[in-house]
Amino acid sequence: MALDVAFSLEAGDFVDPDRAYDLYWAGVITNKRLFVCPGAGCTAQVTCANLDKDVQSMRVVPHFKVYGDHSETCGVVNGKAVDLKVEPNGPDGQERRTVDESIVDVFKLERPDSYYDEPTQDPAADVQVAKKRAKSTRPYTTKLGESGIVGPIYSVRSVVSRYIRYRSDNTLEFRRLNIAGQDVAYDSIFKCIWEQDLNDLPDHPVIYYGWAYIDRTRKDDAYRIKFKKCLMRGTESLTTSSFVSDALIDRYRLKNLMATRLSKISQEPKPTAFVFLYGQPTVRTSNGTSYANFELKNLDMIDVNYDCPLPSKYDR
Ligand SMILES: [Zn+2]
Repeated sequence: MALDVAFSLEAGDFVDPDRAYDLYWAGVITNKRLFVCPGAGCTAQVTCANLDKDVQSMRVVPHFKVYGDHSETCGVVNGKAVDLKVEPNGPDGQERRTVDESIVDVFKLERPDSYYDEPTQDPAADVQVAKKRAKSTRPYTTKLGESGIVGPIYSVRSVVSRYIRYRSDNTLEFRRLNIAGQDVAYDSIFKCIWEQDLNDLPDHPVIYYGWAYIDRTRKDDAYRIKFKKCLMRGTESLTTSSFVSDALIDRYRLKNLMATRLSKISQEPKPTAFVFLYGQPTVRTSNGTSYANFELKNLDMIDVNYDCPLPSKYDR
């Protein structure tokens, strides 16, 4: 049985696989086997697979596997899974879907300060006491630990990871993502960079993606991510890029992950990556030439992959 949430003994908190992955790369979690079932009174052993992989793909996505036995009264194994219902057609012939509010994921653009907190108590202390404390002290986990409810998303990487997970468990059509107060279908948030006119793009940030070349800037203080395809302004083709400065990487808690991926790719004979970023392009002009540029607020807003992690329809 798959679990959406587990209790991390090392972090002293309920975590979904995305947060487990973040905490592993931030050094708070060091062992993929130190998780237990989130159910009250249950200590079934749980492992988080693929925690240590710097790759994510349709085959490699972090997820929990239960190895131990659940307690007899465990609410997680005996409880109901997330309720997914399709209602009969309405009078207008439109299929009506009821979506439990728990399966609208909320994408937040800032992480709470407590996100990377290490446990204040000895992790070897009683796990049930630790679970109770985590439930009462961590505001963003109040609903965690019950069936199918996971925490907010704080990075583009986690949006991609959930998309992959929901596709594999066939719940994608029921899932929504809430960005800046708007609920949108998961399928509709990804936009390929492919010679679109700037005027035809959404007037708000979305997740843009595409293949890009990665190299160092001339000053050698940043990586340049130059998309293979351009954006257009009328008939003018604008080189489309984004920059990840060494200073930005250095300030990022998951710098090991980001630095590993960028540096590996930029040293390849063919230094290309499949890149996602949340933002909106702006035009800059330098020496008479105009460029489209995506400015990154922080590195949670970009995901750099060795290969296309999504199904083949996206891989172009
Ligand atoms: Zn259990």
